[in-house]
Amino acid sequence: MKKFQTTCPYCGTGCNIDLFVENNKIVKAEPTKEHHVNDGELCLKGLYGWEYVHSPRRLTKPMIRKKNGEFSKDGDLVEVSFDEAYDFVAQRMKSTVEKYGADSLMGFSSARCSNEDNYTFQKLFRTQGTNNIDHCARL
Ligand code: SF4
Repeated sequence: MKKFQTTCPYCGTGCNIDLFVENNKIVKAEPTKEHHVNDGELCLKGLYGWEYVHSPRRLTKPMIRKKNGEFSKDGDLVEVSFDEAYDFVAQRMKSTVEKYGADSLMGFSSARCSNEDNYTFQKLFRTQGTNNIDHCARL
């Protein structure tokens, strides 16, 4: 079993967690001992909120709403490749910034992403010229 130290993403407190991984699955979480933020304590979310990571109901492939093979807000969700999804998002972000300016973009991230994922996400938006970033833990 391997141990990975990370920061709990569920709220802004920043508790440090040791995640224990076996066969590529998180099997338990413990508070990082003697850490200056949480000093060996975690709330229930930090201790037990990790089952979703391996849930079979989790989306693992990108999807785009399409009608007759083209994007449509009224279309059905169609599974696409990551390359197609990245191209679609990049093109939509670019055309939106060109038409309305960088502050017309807004990124809303998730507590169900790792701290490292959230860092990368905010970087993506800031490099487009906007600070319009938020996270569901603030709701
Ligand atoms: S363990 Fe609880 S208090 Fe600490 S960061 Fe996570 S959600 Fe916040």
